[in-house]
Amino acid sequence: MTGAMLKPRTYGVGRICAVKGCGTRLSAYNPSDVCALHGGAWQEERHHGARKAAQREEMARRCAFDLCGREFTTTNPARKYCSDACRMRAFQARVMEARRAQTEATPIRRAS
Ligand SMILES: [Zn+2]
Ligand SMILES: [Zn+2]
Repeated sequence: MTGAMLKPRTYGVGRICAVKGCGTRLSAYNPSDVCALHGGAWQEERHHGARKAAQREEMARRCAFDLCGREFTTTNPARKYCSDACRMRAFQARVMEARRAQTEATPIRRAS
C-alpha cells in the first residue's frame, strides 16, 4: 500500500472566489472556483441526504379523534388529526365533555 488512496484530493490552497467582489478564500476541498455561498452545489450534494431526512420525514399516525381513528401520514410531528374536520370535531367533543362534567359536578341550587 502506498497510502495515496487515503490522501484527500485537494484543489489548491489560497484560491479566492471567482465572483467579483466576494473575495472569500476557497477551501482546498472545494472543486469549484467559487465559494460555497456562490457555488453551493458541491456542499449541497454532501448534506442533501441528512437535511432531507431531518426536515421531511413522513410518519404514520392515527387520528387522535376517537370516532375517526384513521391512519394518515404527515411530516409535521405536531399533527394529531387526519384532517381539520377531525380537529374541530375533537375540539367540540372536548368542550361538550367539559360542559357535561361541569353540570354533573355542580349541584342544582334551588332558590329558597
Ligand atoms: Zn463567493
Ligand atoms: Zn380523523
